[in-house]
Amino acid sequence: MKKEFAVIGLGRFGGSICRELIAQGMEVLAIDIDEERVNEYSEIATYAVIADTTDEAVLKNLGIRNFEHVIVAIGDNIQASILTTIILKELGVERITVKAQNDYHEKVLRKIGADQVVHPERDMGVRIVTNLVSNNVLDYLELSNEYSIVELIAGIKMDGKTLLELDIRAKYGVNIVAIKRNEEILVSPQAEEKIKKGDVLVVIGAYQDINRLEKKMS
Ligand code: ATP
Ligand code: ATP
Ligand code: CA
Repeated sequence: MKKEFAVIGLGRFGGSICRELIAQGMEVLAIDIDEERVNEYSEIATYAVIADTTDEAVLKNLGIRNFEHVIVAIGDNIQASILTTIILKELGVERITVKAQNDYHEKVLRKIGADQVVHPERDMGVRIVTNLVSNNVLDYLELSNEYSIVELIAGIKMDGKTLLELDIRAKYGVNIVAIKRNEEILVSPQAEEKIKKGDVLVVIGAYQDINRLEKKMS
């Protein structure tokens, strides 16, 4: 069965969460006070509504209690974030994840019973794109909302194949900027370069594309 999520606040963080949940086949109710933001997600999300989530009656009417997991991604308006979280808690939402803006905000959120507090700007360990987290990903550097540089461990499917045979750039739209092999580092590898299992590939590209490569090759 599909899991039902609600995402409150469709900024960069909430928006990414929303897209990624949809990409993984989940049902998502997208909520924002801002009409433009909601319009942006009306075609992507399962449902999208304009609402002020600091209003308890509004959240009640949305049937928010029935969602298994609610993500509060209101960043800058800390007061709205806290108030929304309190209401969700009072309405008995099963699982609440909240984006914290700073340490003080995080402390308050934990006190009022948020199940999970995430700090995406500070802690890249809490991945925006959850399925980038894998045994094959060593590290990553966020370049923007869309692009990153990721260190991937080459698996058996790549072993002994050249970049040309794997046709990585053409198939995935990403570039391998370096290959780390033991103590060696090969910068800007050419098409003829053979990959060995266990090589660390430094890949640059869009999250989604790198993710596709990682899944296909592991
Ligand atoms: P991010 O920090 O994730 O990049 P952002 O900086 O673009 O996002 P924030 O100000 O952090 O945006 O807020 C995220 C979203 O939360 C905004 O789209 C804003 O309209 C929405 N939001 C703010 N207050 C409320 C509220 N009371 N009810 C619903 N949504 C709200
Ligand atoms: P293209 O526009 O397809 O990249 P090209 O002439 O630059 O053409 P080559 O450098 O000969 O192509 O590489 C052929 C193919 O090998 C590329 O299309 C790409 O799929 C793959 N490839 C080569 N080098 C890399 C790299 N550093 N990272 C990812 N893929 C590569
Ligand atoms: Ca922000």
